[in-house]
Amino acid sequence: MSAFLFPPPEPAALAIAGETRRFPVRRIFCVGQNYAAHAREMGKDPSREQPCFFSKPADAVVASGATIPYPPRTTDLHHEIELVAAIGSGGADIARADALAHVFGYGAGIDLTRRDLQSEARKAGRPWDLSKGFDNSAPLGALAPATRVGHPGKGRISLAVNGAIRQDADLSDMIWSVAEIVAILSQFVRLEAGDLIFTGTPAGVGPIVSGDHVTGEIEGVGGVALTVG
Ligand code: MN
Repeated sequence: MSAFLFPPPEPAALAIAGETRRFPVRRIFCVGQNYAAHAREMGKDPSREQPCFFSKPADAVVASGATIPYPPRTTDLHHEIELVAAIGSGGADIARADALAHVFGYGAGIDLTRRDLQSEARKAGRPWDLSKGFDNSAPLGALAPATRVGHPGKGRISLAVNGAIRQDADLSDMIWSVAEIVAILSQFVRLEAGDLIFTGTPAGVGPIVSGDHVTGEIEGVGGVALTVG
């Protein structure tokens, strides 16, 4: 076996509730507009079109409790609280009925977004990459294994900034269920253990600024916290 030019980076990894072992992150997929009220606040019609997928780099993951610097090239950083499904076993063309068996567990994540860059990209018909996939753009709480918490289809999902609630909805408001998302995404790429799927955010997204303390909570799953430096 030939040597690497330089040492490969350690994989990004997440804490697992009740475990000393960590979950190695392979890829991060995200679903756009999976709650009708959020689709409407973004100026879209929340009909059941095919879900829209985008990605973040795996090393965008940042552990809950961290302080992150305010990111560059934006003056409109937004919070998006999301249920995150962590894939434990891979597969392609997964049937909806089998989909949840591929999910290891769930976490509370924040899909940090440079909304000004995203708006410019949307207007110009350009990709969202740099508005969504940037350093520290995926804060995530510890994963709760499905063997312990099941596969939550309902429960409160909320986010507060400095203690004031900004997003408050229920997982049952999702347009596409986790099983449907896993099944559809697996038609486009072969999912692998270590993949994370951000399943979309409810209404109430808005800006955060330096000094803000952000807390998210998903009933039956766990929480996530973030301070903007
Ligand atoms: Mn999102």
